[in-house]
Amino acid sequence: MYPSRFRYEAPRSIDEAIALLQEGGGEAKVLAGGQSLVPLLKLRFASPELLVDIKGIPEMTSIAAQSGVYRFGAAVPCMALVEDKAFGKAWPGVADGANLIGSIQVRGRATVGGNLCNASPAADTVPAMIAAGATASIVGPNGRREVPVEDIATGPGKTSLANGEIVASFLLPRRPPRSGDAYLRFIPRTEMDIAVVGAGVNLTLDEAGVCTQARVSIGAVAERALLVPEAGAALIGTKIDADALKRMAAAVSAACRPIDDKRGTKVYRIKVAGVMARRAAEIALERARRTN
Ligand SMILES: Cc1cc2nc3c(=O)[nH]c(=O)nc-3n(C[C@H](O)[C@H](O)[C@H](O)COP(=O)(O)OP(=O)(O)OC[C@H]3O[C@@H](n4cnc5c(N)ncnc54)[C@H](O)[C@@H]3O)c2cc1C
Repeated sequence: MYPSRFRYEAPRSIDEAIALLQEGGGEAKVLAGGQSLVPLLKLRFASPELLVDIKGIPEMTSIAAQSGVYRFGAAVPCMALVEDKAFGKAWPGVADGANLIGSIQVRGRATVGGNLCNASPAADTVPAMIAAGATASIVGPNGRREVPVEDIATGPGKTSLANGEIVASFLLPRRPPRSGDAYLRFIPRTEMDIAVVGAGVNLTLDEAGVCTQARVSIGAVAERALLVPEAGAALIGTKIDADALKRMAAAVSAACRPIDDKRGTKVYRIKVAGVMARRAAEIALERARRTN
């Protein structure tokens, strides 16, 4: 089935994009990589009157690092992040998440901004970004505001963005030495599947190998990706030994509130979430030990 008629605009600035979205009111939609939106248009599950393509806006399509702080545009394709070696060295867990989206072809179009704003509870980049402590720079008719990534999706297909607002870019904080992050997902197939469970962990060690900060986030086990502060707290102050990992996994499982569906039961998802978080923490730990 083909989409109904719509107007297409490709602004060159954020201001122009915001003006177009305002003009379109509730009938306008942002188009990034189109990997979620275009299938919806084809199926006529969405029929906007105006599509505002944000891929030609420089702030939204660039990756920049300054004094260790990364800012990348919400319309940067996942593949560009994956292929940026310096970015992958600084934030391997975020790159892990971007590298799991669909196929090479899908990753060539799909963006982290689109993955977040599509608001699937199983979105693969989101737990890694939450664990990383990423903030989203949101621009709209009333100006700009910075919001933690965990506060954007509110439920399946729903976000906290107001009408006319777009996510312009993401900011990842400067990394202290001995930091590492990782994202893992469980799928029944080897690729091209939706996460049954996803887990992102980001941690920092001191010179003695004691964990000084940790953030743990889980996906596909609630109506949106969750930050689990209790899980991070179980690692802080420890050398991330077996006991700390066990307590972290228990905190993760306790935070899950999944649905039963044909891809996994509640009981299964709750158990696997703890396992995936433990494995992600072990990878993040290894990565932290390798940096200084
Ligand atoms: C074959 C296939 C495999 C896939 N596999 C995976 C997978 O393994 N893991 C996974 O997580 N996803 C997967 N997806 C889903 C999809 O690729 C991702 O959700 C993708 O990241 C969406 O990004 P996009 O740039 O294509 O967004 P679009 O489709 O362009 O937009 C998605 C939604 O977000 C809104 N939006 C986009 N950007 C912004 C912005 N900056 N500000 C405000 N609103 C915005 C749009 O209006 C739309 O509602 C797959 C899709 C396909 C087709």
